Amino acid sequence: MKFCEYVNAVLTGPVSLLKGMGVTLKYFFNPKRIVTEQYPENKATLKMHERFRGRVELIHNEQGFHNCTSCGICEKACPNASINVLSTKNMAGKKVLGKYLYRYDTCTQCGLCVDSCPFGCLGFAHDFESASWDKKSFELVLNKCEGQG
Ligand code: SF4
Ligand code: SF4
Repeated sequence: MKFCEYVNAVLTGPVSLLKGMGVTLKYFFNPKRIVTEQYPENKATLKMHERFRGRVELIHNEQGFHNCTSCGICEKACPNASINVLSTKNMAGKKVLGKYLYRYDTCTQCGLCVDSCPFGCLGFAHDFESASWDKKSFELVLNKCEGQG
């Protein structure tokens, strides 16, 4: 390092230090402005952002019913075959959803299935701790009751 560069570093160093301290002091005296999440200490109260994309979910109402008609549009829309809609027939002989199979491990959260459903049946869950050693745990059945609808 040349002498003039050394002198320059000595003179500008304290200035940058004071700038950093200024930021620290600003948040110290006004903690409400802190946006850093204290994870995992805040795990119980942590809420993900509204637009966060976790796994795909089949939306059920309070009574546990969904609007899926088993049309299969979402399955066709999925670019990597993460969805398999299995139909069945109800007692009246009407085609209804049997099993809504979903693979979380291959899903890229692209949202094509959510956007393509004509009945707004799909959304993204907000759970975020999904790591697992068991590959089977990523193969999910999204409907709560078979033959509903
Ligand atoms: S979000 Fe994309 S990749 Fe995942 S299931 Fe839907 S269409 Fe397939
Ligand atoms: S979730 Fe929507 S697009 Fe997919 S099968 Fe059901 S009704 Fe059709």
